[in-house]
Amino acid sequence: MMLTVDQLIDLEILAQEELSRLTEEELHAIEDVAPISPDKAIGRLSRLDSMQIQEIAKDAQRRREKRIHDLKRALERMDAGTYGICERCSSWIEFERLEASPESKLCGSCRRG
Ligand SMILES: [Zn+2]
Repeated sequence: MMLTVDQLIDLEILAQEELSRLTEEELHAIEDVAPISPDKAIGRLSRLDSMQIQEIAKDAQRRREKRIHDLKRALERMDAGTYGICERCSSWIEFERLEASPESKLCGSCRRG
């Protein structure tokens, strides 16, 4: 079903809030993925453990960057008036789905299929 203006406004706010939250997180996360120097005191953690932690942090950063990218594209689609339309089948994406992740590009059935 086509999105109402009210729904679109809600989703734009959601997307912007999520985007600023992630951007903020990104700023604080940069130091977490900085290379660890071999002589750095890392307390009880072995260097190997800290490298694993770094890998996890890098992975989280990659996912965050992708979401930031996708949310920016979603806001662009809102400006262009093409937001909420499934990229595969051109039907309307369910509001509940967009509410859960405003960057969704596929409707529920295309996502599953
Ligand atoms: Zn679809």
